[in-house]
Parts: sequence; C-alpha cells; structure tokens
Amino acid sequence: MVSALFFYQLVLIALVWLCVLLHWMWPSDPATCPPTSEQPSPVPKRQRERTPFAGLTTKPHCDACEHASDPHPQAAASPPPRIVISRGRRRRVDTSRHFCPNPACAYRGWVGWGNLRANGHPSGGPWRQLLCVACRRYFLETLGTLFHGKRTSPDLIVHVLACLAEGLGIRGPARVFEVDPNTVLQWLVEAAEQLWAFSQHVLHDVRVQQVQLDELFALLSAVKAGTASEADAIARLERSPQWVWAAMDPESKLLLALDVGDRTLALAQRVVHQVAQVVAPDCAPLFLTDGFRESTTALLTHYGHWVQCPRRQAPGPAPKPRWMPLPQLLYAQGVKTVRRRRLVRVSQRVVFGTLEAVEQVVVACGWQIQTAFIERVNLSMRQHVAAIGRRATTLCKGEDGVWQQLSLYQCYYNFCLPHTSLQQALPQPEPTHGSGAAKQWRPCTPAMAAGLTDHVWTLREVLLFRVPPWLQPAGI
Ligand SMILES: [Zn+2]
Repeated sequence: MVSALFFYQLVLIALVWLCVLLHWMWPSDPATCPPTSEQPSPVPKRQRERTPFAGLTTKPHCDACEHASDPHPQAAASPPPRIVISRGRRRRVDTSRHFCPNPACAYRGWVGWGNLRANGHPSGGPWRQLLCVACRRYFLETLGTLFHGKRTSPDLIVHVLACLAEGLGIRGPARVFEVDPNTVLQWLVEAAEQLWAFSQHVLHDVRVQQVQLDELFALLSAVKAGTASEADAIARLERSPQWVWAAMDPESKLLLALDVGDRTLALAQRVVHQVAQVVAPDCAPLFLTDGFRESTTALLTHYGHWVQCPRRQAPGPAPKPRWMPLPQLLYAQGVKTVRRRRLVRVSQRVVFGTLEAVEQVVVACGWQIQTAFIERVNLSMRQHVAAIGRRATTLCKGEDGVWQQLSLYQCYYNFCLPHTSLQQALPQPEPTHGSGAAKQWRPCTPAMAAGLTDHVWTLREVLLFRVPPWLQPAGI
C-alpha cells in the first residue's frame, strides 16, 4: 500500500518535471518558430549587389508575335451616318446591342447605329427577328451565338453550362438534366469558342498597376481505359506534364490571360504576349512571378527596346545596339524554397528596376512582393474547372478539353461572379423585404472593378452577346 502511494507520487513528480522541461525548451516567441506552410515569413533580406543587365544582341523570338493576327481589329472603313427615325410610333424593343451581319451592307458590324428594327417572333419561336432598314435583310437575334439553330430550350443550355462553370464534369449535368454527354460536350465546345472571342473583344486597353503570373500543374488522363496499363500512363504523363498558365491583376482581380501547355519559354512568351495585348499599350505594369527563369526572357521580349551603347574607346567600330528592358519595366520574383513538400522560405528577387521602385508600387496597396493573389485564383480554378481538380476523376484527355473549360471559366469569373473583396459600400443602406437587415453592399465583379462594365452579367447574357467584327468607338 505504502509502496504504491510512493510510486504514484514519483510519477506525479516526473510529470511535473516533464511539463517544466517542455515549457522551458519549447520556443514561445513566434518569431523563433520555423515557418509553416500556411504562413511563410518572407525574409527581410536586402537585395545583394548585382551586376546590371548587359542586354541582348538579338531580340528574343516570340512565335505569337510573328504569327498572330490583331486580336482587336479596327474597322476598315469610316462608319456610315447614324439613322434616327423620328416618324411613326416609338420603338420599345432595344436593338442597340446588335449589328447587321450582311457583308454587302454599309452598316455591317456597327453596333447600335439605329439601322435595326425588331420584327416580332417568327412562328412563335423564342427568339426575336431583326430587320436592317439599310439592306432590308432579316436575321435572328441569336445569329452567331451558341443558341442559333438549336431547338433545345435555351434555359437548359444555360443551366448545363453554368454547372460546368461551377466545377461539375461533363457527365454530372448530363445525368441531372437527362441530356446525352456528347451533346453537353458539343455545347461546351461551341460556348468555349464564342466566349474566347468575347474575352478577346472585351479585354483591351486595361489599365493595371501590377500583374501576377503563375503556372499550375494539371494532370491529363492521357490514356483511354483499357488501352494501356497505369504504369505506362504515369510514365507518359511524366514525360508530358501540362501546365495551366494564368495572369491576373491583383487589384481588380481580373483574369487577364489563361493558357494551357508545357512549362517552357514558348508558353511563357505566349502568355506574356496575351497580357501585352490586353493591357493598354503605354502601360508597363509591375510583373510578379515565381522563380521560373524563362519568364524573364518572355517579359524582355515584349517590354524591351534597342539601346545604342556609348563608345568606350575612340578607335574601332561602334558597339552594336543592345536589346534592353524598357526603363519603366518593373519585374520581381518571389522564389520559394520547398523542403520535404513544405514551404520553408520565400525570398524576393528584383530582376528589372530597383527594389525601391517595386516596393513603392506594392506598399501602396499594403502588400509585399509575393504571388499570393494568383495562387488564391489557382485554388478557385481547381474548384471551378473540373479538368484540373485535385484527385478528380473528371480529367480531360487532351489540352483542348482543358482549354474549353478554362475559357468558359475565364468569362464566368470575370463577368458573372461577384468577388467578395471587391464589394462596394452603398451610399444609403437599402431596406430588404420582411425583417431582414438592410442591404449595405453592392456586389462587384472583376470586370466592374477594372472599369470594363457597369453591372454583374448573367451567364445567359454573356452567351447571348453577339461579338461584333471590330472594336466599337464607345467600347462594348
Ligand atoms: Zn444591313
């Protein structure tokens, strides 16, 4: 009995001693803790003295620059006179979003020029017929969109595409709405091309201060069931990994460019080329990327110019001109160090420009030199695009399938989804029905924050938009 009591006392003393020892040894100050993956603490290390960039003797090659046509074509001819009809009854149907499609008509492609009249619904169909008074040609308001020539209910098509944009695979909506999966795929393919044209048309001359660029690993199910073993499939995937490239403006959250392909210089060139075409020509934003080396060359290609270096000595031929970054170009990298699949450090490296100039842009928003915003968008993309989800069984077979889902997502994200951090306070709280609290915030999408549009679009509205052949004088 006595020995048991003594034993328990001994155990108690040992436990207390252990607690004291642990308390003494455990670092209580968070600054001394090793950084975890959730909160990587950037090292406030000052920039090392680096040798100034000497420039290149040739301009780097960009395939997109050589082969691409102008994504924002201007009208070939000057616009015809506007038509204003003061006689007759007042027109109630708004045709200001439409244009005449007739190639022989002088009013072809001019949006809201007053040449169109609504002409009712032919055969009681869902879509309105429009008449061009200049060339007397009739056409449906869905001409050139996904809905043209389809007998399926437009609501069904919009619902199925909204399900795809919210992150379901092809077969899920097909089962829910009792449609053939091949039909869903066909709608997606048509919608992707139309929405790609819509993005190209709307995203131009965007004024941005910063651009964050990142790549996201995407696994494709490169192998059809039964044709090869899993080991073969993994070996093949390891040889051809796919990456989703994304560029966004962290202030308005606007997705400027999305692309799929390898992690190579050619793809980096293609993405920076897209960004350069979306951003206003006289605007050179601060670029922030991860430590991928080829991004530097891609930026230098699109934001560079020839500089004639001064002579160092009087005799001999003059030095050759060098391809140098534009003086206003700022570029910084956040280089991550990962050990045992854990992020241990993020160090910053200023590539073009000075650390002071980069910090001035970033600190104005209360941020640091990092790529956190684009990485948050990467998470949203994984949740909304079934083909690049983690551990998903809805992977695509090829690049095209991912690209189609991405172009649907880009429009949905930029125009239809209000962003929580962008919402604007209403000047006066609006009362709601019933006993609910007054509404104090106005939803805002990235496109609204970037000044491209003034309202939250519905997916139906985006899909019904007829993309004109050239940029209109007053924007969209
Ligand atoms: Zn016409």
